[in-house]
Amino acid sequence: MAKHIFVTGGVVSSLGKGITTGALGLLLKRMGLTVKLQKLDPYINVDPGTMNPYEHGEVYVTEDGAETDLDLGHYERFTGDPVSRDSNFTTGRIYSTVIQRERRGDFLGKTVQVVPHITDEIKNCIKKLAQPGVDVVITEIGGTVGDIESLPFLEAIRQMRHDVHSRNCMYVHLSFVPFLKAAGEAKTKPTQQSVGELRRIGIQPDVLIIRTERHISQEAKKKLSLFCNVDEEAVIEEKDVDFSIYEVPLHLIRQGLDRFIAERLSLPVGRPRISDWIDVVETIKHLNQSVKIAVAGKYIAHQDAYKSIYEALTHAGIHHKTKVELVKIESEELETPENMKKLEGVHGILVPGGFGNRGIEGKINAAQYAREKKIPYLGLCLGMQIAVIEFGRHCCGLTEATSGEFNPQSKQCVIDLLPGQREVKDKGATMRLGAFPCVLKEGSKAQAAYGQGQVMERHRHRYEFNNQFREVYEHRGLIFSGLSPDGKLVEIIELADHPWFVAVQFHPEFKSQPIQPHPLFRDFIGAALKLTQKGSNSASRRMKRIERPKTHPEQMPE
Ligand code: GLN
Repeated sequence: MAKHIFVTGGVVSSLGKGITTGALGLLLKRMGLTVKLQKLDPYINVDPGTMNPYEHGEVYVTEDGAETDLDLGHYERFTGDPVSRDSNFTTGRIYSTVIQRERRGDFLGKTVQVVPHITDEIKNCIKKLAQPGVDVVITEIGGTVGDIESLPFLEAIRQMRHDVHSRNCMYVHLSFVPFLKAAGEAKTKPTQQSVGELRRIGIQPDVLIIRTERHISQEAKKKLSLFCNVDEEAVIEEKDVDFSIYEVPLHLIRQGLDRFIAERLSLPVGRPRISDWIDVVETIKHLNQSVKIAVAGKYIAHQDAYKSIYEALTHAGIHHKTKVELVKIESEELETPENMKKLEGVHGILVPGGFGNRGIEGKINAAQYAREKKIPYLGLCLGMQIAVIEFGRHCCGLTEATSGEFNPQSKQCVIDLLPGQREVKDKGATMRLGAFPCVLKEGSKAQAAYGQGQVMERHRHRYEFNNQFREVYEHRGLIFSGLSPDGKLVEIIELADHPWFVAVQFHPEFKSQPIQPHPLFRDFIGAALKLTQKGSNSASRRMKRIERPKTHPEQMPE
């Protein structure tokens, strides 16, 4: 029977519950356990797919084509295991299942209520992951304890203790201890209150993970233990990291959280084997060169809108022992010629995905700059589409080239709706979603990166290269280096006469991991590094080597 760990958050949002949950997943996996992770989101949207990135940050796409919360990206990056659509449920999805069942007559004669019908459905969603062979299911509850809309979720996880027995189930509460400068001390009261709120609902946390900007004293830990009724050894500090979020699991292990969980859930396991992870963290601490990468996006102001992209760039940097300095540019700004100087000195330009007209011309200008100045370019989804438009306008004589998304009336829609999309009326979950195969062209840069003939990559789009224009593009030297197996869909384009210009219709960023960077990101940063070595577009970027104390390996269990 699978054991269950529930992760809740208190006091404030944005504490990094997803990172902590991912880190817990890594710990347990490296103890030899089979772990499944899941997030339950209390909002009403059926999934985040219809939300603006400014509202919700990145939409993370799973292999099986679900549009999900960005925390699932952390789960995959920490554990290395792909998640599925069963790893993210929202209030909207749960209600729509219950309402469909009500219409079908499943509850005939009964009043359908939050308790037990909604809470039962929530428990079904949790139990779905507890398949035979799974040792532990970790379920993160979105939102903050005290939110009205999270109440049914908290009630459901309270009931889970009775369903699976308390020895098979534990609660981890992530909270915040602020440091008040004026008082000169850390304040535990907000955490006491949020635990108080949980206990009123009937949940006694077993572990408190304390997010804090400064180390908290033993005295503060004692106080938290006493007032929150949690063992002192289970009050774990999670201070802001110095270098990278990938340090988090090491801090948790150092404080013995793995041992506590193993004992509490009677898991017959040793300590996590994590030396490769320690190597990653050590590498991050000792990067001794850097590249500047411009990200020209539409949602730059939202720090979570390109989460997986920023992480994938970091992973590629780890591979090359290189710090990736991001130059974040709102693409609309690149529509003013004098702003193009913002791209001066960068060693690579990345244009990410996006939807709608705003900022498109700026993205096109960025692609043109990269092509003409021979700066490494990586285009992702919309970033490929605008590269196609740019090449059409400036190299194929298609001066009106555009996408059907921006001007459906144009005669030169070099990017147009995918087959089947014209009939689509609903906006939710109707794009081309999830993993599809892509066949790579022999001798291309894409194939050199992947080192294989066929790959699977995740998609999220309605528009696609318009095959009517394939001949003219090919004639002008654009290489179609990745196609769907039937040859009908263009998945990757690249330029021959350029150090590294590769653009893809899919989202490689979703498959990159700290110990296994995505091949395209790896080679993109590799090409950017070469540019620094050539010294063009900037001075060399070798950094002064800063000696930093090593993580004490003796404190790291093996
Ligand atoms: N808006 C474009 C499309 O729907 C690109 C989508 C994306 O970048 N994810 O095809």
